[in-house]
Amino acid sequence: MERNAVNRYRLPVPKNLLERVDKTSSPAHIGKLRNAIDLLVPENTPVLAAANGIVTYVKDDSNFGGPYPAYWNYTNFIVIMHANGEYSRYDHLAHLSSRVKVHQDIAKGHVIAKVGMTGYTFRPHLHFQVFIYTGTNIWMDFDTVSVRDFG
Ligand SMILES: [Zn+2]
Repeated sequence: MERNAVNRYRLPVPKNLLERVDKTSSPAHIGKLRNAIDLLVPENTPVLAAANGIVTYVKDDSNFGGPYPAYWNYTNFIVIMHANGEYSRYDHLAHLSSRVKVHQDIAKGHVIAKVGMTGYTFRPHLHFQVFIYTGTNIWMDFDTVSVRDFG
């Protein structure tokens, strides 16, 4: 039984820049990442906080990426903690584009970074996932939850 997100999340990019929402075609969206969503947008599109929350992780020092799984760990990303134990994560951010810091309190719609080509990525897009923790290892013990629509 798939768990749906409890919180309401807004589209994490400006709607007028969104080309397509892709939930199924990425080869990386398997297992724990099965509920991740790729938002196809131009490079440098602003990334918006999907809900109110507190920033828990920022990496934006990578300047490297491309269409190979070996580049997986070169992704720049931000994690935000929300109500109800849910977190959102935004991947493939542009080099040094973060506008937020860890522990910062941010509002839904706040610009947090720009879309880049870092990590394992075929074309500019924002990888977005909402997840919950299932244990104590922050890199391993999590599961994505389903975001059916943005609002
Ligand atoms: Zn993705």
